This record gives sequence, C-alpha cells and structure tokens, in this order.
Amino acid sequence: RTIDVQASSHDYSIHIGSGLRLALKSYISMDYSKILIMTDENVANIYLDDVLGQFSEKEILKVIIPAGESSKSIEIFYSTHTKAIEFGLDRSSLIIALGGGVVGDLAGFIASTYMRGIDYIQMPTTILAHDSSVGGKVAINHELGKNLIGSFYPPKLVLYDIDTLHTLPTREIRSGYAEIIKEAMLAKQSNLNEILSTTISDIPNEKLMQDLELGIKIKAAIVEEDEKERGTRKHLNLGHTLGHAIEAVLGYGKITHGEAVGIGLLFAVYVSEKYFSKKILFSQLLSWLKKNHYPLNIVNSLTPTALVDKMKTDKKNVHNKIHMVLLEAIGQPTVHSFEDNKILDYIQSFFDMVK
Ligand code: NAD
Ligand code: ZN
Repeated sequence: RTIDVQASSHDYSIHIGSGLRLALKSYISMDYSKILIMTDENVANIYLDDVLGQFSEKEILKVIIPAGESSKSIEIFYSTHTKAIEFGLDRSSLIIALGGGVVGDLAGFIASTYMRGIDYIQMPTTILAHDSSVGGKVAINHELGKNLIGSFYPPKLVLYDIDTLHTLPTREIRSGYAEIIKEAMLAKQSNLNEILSTTISDIPNEKLMQDLELGIKIKAAIVEEDEKERGTRKHLNLGHTLGHAIEAVLGYGKITHGEAVGIGLLFAVYVSEKYFSKKILFSQLLSWLKKNHYPLNIVNSLTPTALVDKMKTDKKNVHNKIHMVLLEAIGQPTVHSFEDNKILDYIQSFFDMVK
C-alpha cells in the first residue's frame, strides 16, 4: 500500500507492506554514488544483513549505534559525520535510516546537515516510527532538553516493512499504539472505537497494517496542511504535554515515549471533559489503557509540582503559559492555555482518579 505526501521541498511516498526490506534496491530510483546505512545494535542483529545483502561492500557504509534515546547526541552526530567524510560520502550519496524513531531522527538530522543536505530514506522498524518517519521533523537532543537541535527535512521515501514489527518487545508495541490512538482521536472519521475494542498484544497482521495505514494517513494530512507547525500541526501534540513531562521527570528510558503519551492522552481527555463539561472518551480510554497494561500506577511515584515545572519548559509554550491540546469532541482538537495552578489542580484530581 502506498500513501503519497506533499512537502514544500518535494513529494514522497510511504510504502507499507510485507517483506519490503528485502526489496529496497528496487525502490531506490536515483543512481546514488555511495550509501550510509544507520541502525542500532538491536535492529542490526536481526535485519541489517537483509538490507546489506542487496549492495556491494564498496558502496555501503554501516553505522551501528547503541540502542536508546541517548544516541540522539551531538557526539554521535559528529562521529557519524567523520565516518561519512572518511568513507567519501558526497552530495549525490544517500543515507538510510533502518530502525525506530531514534535512528530515524538522528540519521535524518545528519542527512539534513551533511554537505548542506543529502537524500535520505526512512525504513521504520517500530510501530512508533510510523509517526516519526512521516512529516520531516528530524532532531537530536541537547543536554537541556529533547529534540532541541533539529530541522524540518522530509525523506525521499519511507519503506515500512511490517514483518519487522513481529520482533518488537510488548512495551514497544504499547508505545507505538498510543500514537495510533492519538491520530484516531484527532480525525473525525476514524477507527477509534474499533481500536479501543482490541487487545494490542494479539492483534492480527492485517488489522495492524490497517491501523498503521490510517494513522499515517491522518498524520500525513495534518503535516501537508501545516508542514512547519504554525497551526494545526500542533494538534499532533495531543497527550504530549503531560506525556513529555512524565518522561522528563522520570528520566528517559524508565518508561517508553508512547506509554507516557498514553497516560498523557487520558489526562488530555480528562481535562477536556472538565473544561467542556461533557463526556468524551475518558472511561473507554481508561479501560483500554488498563486492558493493555499501560503503566498507570506510575502516577504514584510522580510529584504534580515537578510535572508542572517541566511543562513550563516545553518549547511549544507561548508567553510562559502552559499550552495543551484539548478535544471538544472526537476529531475536534483545540489548543488552550492555562495558569500553572489550574494545571496543578487538574493533575492532582486526575491522579486521584487513576491511581
Ligand atoms: P527506538 O528507536 O529507541 O526503538 C525502541 C526500541 O526497540 C529500541 O531498543 C530498538 O533497538 C528496538 N527495536 C527497534 N525495532 C525493532 C524491531 N523491529 N524488533 C525488535 N526491537 C526493535 O524508539 P521509538 O519508540 O521507535 O522512537 C522514539 C524516538 O522517536 C524518540 O527519540 C522521539 O523523540 C522520536 N519521535 C520523533 C517524532 C518525529 O516527528 N520526528 C515523532 C515521535 C517520536
Ligand atoms: Zn509522540
């Protein structure tokens, strides 16, 4: 299946299917001088040879990074540039990102800066990376915050081999599904109820592919409308105000991004129901999160004031007020700003409900 995305620099296609990693070569249209493939050590163990087998040793350089968020660093960014220069990567070369969002964000940012920008391809291998590989946001982390050094730089192609998802640990499945739920909540016509009725650990392949395809379509439509995040793209931040704060307070790696976003989505719905005085989705979402073992009890180890402090440093804030995406209804997101005290009240009463 193919989804086409229009970006200001160029259009690109997202291909979703079974066994695509084995056919990469047939999807590369241009004649690239050399190739750098980046992946992390977990993915390298399982899938790197499948891709390398299609190229000769002379034309492709492999860069294997440690798995995990800490690899989105200025050190690895720099050392990869060094390797690329020594290998002779030039302006008509290609970078391939084979892995999850960490590899995709890092390799994409390297591609955006190497010799002022060269082509790159995303080959996502996590469910979460259906989100990170589409839309062209690429970044590395600064010691003072996540994704603070980055750019908008769309890939030439996204090749999503869903067979690679079978080896994902359960918590990574959970992590990716939170973003699929988020996308479904943002769209008027979506499969939200259907997703909320499934248990994700034993989801059939065909259903997973449908969910991914719909999620990607919703995301693609939003980023096409607002590539540089001046308006509606902010809606993709649904669930991330609290989600990011939880990740930051706990320390990255304690909980996956999507697990934190799952709790953040529930909080966004909670605040929405209070704010608009109507029922939207809270009880259905809460039982889905419980059924799928999202770590809701983590709230017992979190201090609401510490979370509010973190929210204040969010780069999406304007004039020092905390901004949150709320839902007036399913498919009707809006952005609201709140005083710190109000958010603190919401967090406290929310925690009392879910702990
Ligand atoms: P990740 O890349 O760290 O992958 C998660 C774990 O799964 C890693 O340990 C990895 O080695 C392993 N793994 C990957 N594929 C596997 C497979 N097929 N089988 C077995 N194990 C596999 O994390 P992620 O959740 O994919 O991505 C998170 C990152 O994405 C964060 O850095 C976040 O900032 C970024 N992100 C970016 C955007 C964007 O728009 N650019 C959007 C959302 C998230
Ligand atoms: Zn996210």
